Amino acid sequence: MKKAIIILLLSFTFFSCKTTQNITSTNKKGLTEPEKRGYWQQKVDYKITADLDTLKNQYKGKIKLTYYNHSKDTLNKAYFHLYWNAFQPGSAMDWRNRWLEDPDRELDKRIQALKPDEIGFVKIHRLEQNEKPVTYTIVGTVMEVNLDKPLLPGESTVFDIDYLTQIPLLLRRSGRDNKEGIDYSMAQWYPQIAEYDLQGWHTDPYIGREFYNVWGDFDVQLKVPENYMVAATGDLVNAEEIGKGYSGTKTSKTDSEGKITWHFKAKNVHDFVWAADPDYIHDVIDGPDGVKLHFFYQNDPSIIENWKKLQPVVVKTMAFYNEKIGKYPYKKYNIIQAGDGGMEYAMGTFVYGNKPYNSLRGTVQHELGHAWFQFTLATNEAQYPWMDEGFTSYIQDLANVYVNGKISPNPFSRSYSGYRYLVKMGKDEPLSTFADHYHTNLAYWIGAYDKGKMVLSQLGYIMGFDKLDETLKEYYSNWKMKHPQPDDFFKIAQKVSGMDLRVFKNDWIETTHHTDYAIEEVKESDGKTVITIKRLEDMVMPLDIVVKYKDGSQESFYIPLDVVRGQKANPFPEMKRNILPVWKWAIPQYTFAINKKKSEIDYIVIDPLGFMADINPENNFYKQQNATNQ
Ligand SMILES: [Zn+2]
Repeated sequence: MKKAIIILLLSFTFFSCKTTQNITSTNKKGLTEPEKRGYWQQKVDYKITADLDTLKNQYKGKIKLTYYNHSKDTLNKAYFHLYWNAFQPGSAMDWRNRWLEDPDRELDKRIQALKPDEIGFVKIHRLEQNEKPVTYTIVGTVMEVNLDKPLLPGESTVFDIDYLTQIPLLLRRSGRDNKEGIDYSMAQWYPQIAEYDLQGWHTDPYIGREFYNVWGDFDVQLKVPENYMVAATGDLVNAEEIGKGYSGTKTSKTDSEGKITWHFKAKNVHDFVWAADPDYIHDVIDGPDGVKLHFFYQNDPSIIENWKKLQPVVVKTMAFYNEKIGKYPYKKYNIIQAGDGGMEYAMGTFVYGNKPYNSLRGTVQHELGHAWFQFTLATNEAQYPWMDEGFTSYIQDLANVYVNGKISPNPFSRSYSGYRYLVKMGKDEPLSTFADHYHTNLAYWIGAYDKGKMVLSQLGYIMGFDKLDETLKEYYSNWKMKHPQPDDFFKIAQKVSGMDLRVFKNDWIETTHHTDYAIEEVKESDGKTVITIKRLEDMVMPLDIVVKYKDGSQESFYIPLDVVRGQKANPFPEMKRNILPVWKWAIPQYTFAINKKKSEIDYIVIDPLGFMADINPENNFYKQQNATNQ
C-alpha cells in the first residue's frame, strides 16, 4: 500500500505577508564590522574611450586607470584580466569544457569552430605606468605587469593602456550577434585590473565562473554608429547630444564618420557593462525611491507585451528587496535584452528577452537580486559562488512568494530535492570549492544555487526566520560597497542570533557532511509515550518535532543543540511548545517522553516544513497505525 500523504494542518507563519520589523542597527552603537577589524579595499578609477568599428567587429580602446593601493603591502606587480582571449580555440575555457565529465557540449564545439575573424582578442599597443613603458607577459586571459616603481601602501599610480579588441561571436555572456539578434553585448570588454585583498592578487584565468573586481569610478565614452541605441552602466551625461528618447530631443550629434559618442559616468561600482543595437526599444519607468528603471528590448511584436507586463513587477520586486535587505544604492537600473540567459552587471542585467513571460520574470527577479548580492555586497564569485548565487536565489524565492503570490510553506523545497538528488548520485562537493574547480557542472549548479540558498534557509531554521531577516539587514548595512568574506556574514549571524554557528558553517560549507535524523522507536511506558530519535549522519542540528494527536490537536517539541548555545523563538506559535533538554551532539540518540498514551498519537514528524537538509526525510515520520484499518 502506498504510504499515506500527510497534509500538515499547521498554520504557517514563516512566509505569510507580515511586515518585517525595523531593526536597531549596530552601527548606532559605534564602529561598523569592517571598521572594527581595520578593513581596507583597493580603489580604481577608469577613464575609457572606445571607438567601435561595426564592419570589423573590433574597437580601439584607450584607458587611463588610476589605481590606489589602500593595502599595507608594497606591490611590485599588477595583474589585468583580458577576458576575451578566452574565446579562442585551444584556450583554457575551451579545454576545461572538453574535459569536464558533464560539459556544455555546445560551448566547446563552438569555441573550437571560431574562425580568425570570429575569435575574441585583446592586443596591447601601449602600456605605461606613470608615463613610463612597463614590461608585461600575457598568459591566456591574464596579463602580468612588472611595475616600473613599487607601489607603496597609501600611494596611487596611473596606467595608460592603448589596445585593440576583437569582439568575439557571442558564446558566453558577451560578444557580438547573440542568438536573439542583439549586435553587441559588451561585458568583460576592457582590460580590467585584478582585485588585490587580504588574500593577495586574484588572478583567476577566465574559465567560466565568475568575477571579482575592484571598486571605483568609471568615465566611459563610447563612439558608435549613429543608428545605434546604447544601454550602459552609469548616467548618460550628454543626453542632449544623443536624443533617442534620452533627452526628449530627436536630434543627435554625429561626427564625420557618422558616429556619435555616448558618455557615461558611474560612481562607486565594480564593473561597467554596455550593449548596443539599432533596434532597441527603450522604456524608462519610475522605480522605488526615485530610481529610474530602463528597459532595452528588441522591436519585435512577439515580445513587446511580455516586456511591458514585466515593468511594474520589477518596481514591486525592487521595493521588496529594498525592504527585505536594504535600499538599492544607485538611481538607475537597466534590464537589457543581451548576452545569453541572464547575467548580473553593475546597475543592470543582460537577459534573453524572447521567452515565456514567467521565465522572463523569474530571470529578471533573480538578476535584480544580484544588485544586492554581488553589485553591492561584492563577494568573490570565483571563490564563494554560494554567497552571490545562493543568497540571490534565496531572495528570488521570497519574491516568488511576496511579489508573485506563490504561497508555500517552504518556498525553497525544490532546492532540497535537488540537493538530495546530488547526494544520491554521489556527486556532492564541499560548498567551499572554487567555482571553476568543481568536478562536475551539476555539483556547481546545485552547490552554488541550491546549497548556497540552503545556507540561509537552514540558518532560518536554526535561528528563526525573523533573526535571519535581521541578519541580512545587518550584513547589508555593514558590508555594502565592500567585499565581505564568509566569516563576515557569519559573524553578524552569530551576533544577531546570539548563537554559535561555527559547526553549522563548517559542516555545510567546508565538508560534505550530511544530516539524517530518524524516529527510531515509539513505545509506551507507564502511560506515557517514549520517543527515541537517532542521528545517522555527521551533520548535527537542533530539532523541531510536531506531534499530532488523534483528537486533532498538535503540540511541538524543540530539542536545542549543545554546540549552538541558544534557542530560537517558537516557530509554531499556534500550538503548545515544549522545550526539551539540550541534545549533546556527540551522543547519537536522544529519548524524550510525551504525557499521552501511544494510542492517542496520530503522527510524529521531525522538521515538518523540511528546512533541515535531511537526506532521508522518510524516516523523520512516524504514523500510528489505526487498528481497525490494518
Ligand atoms: Zn545568479
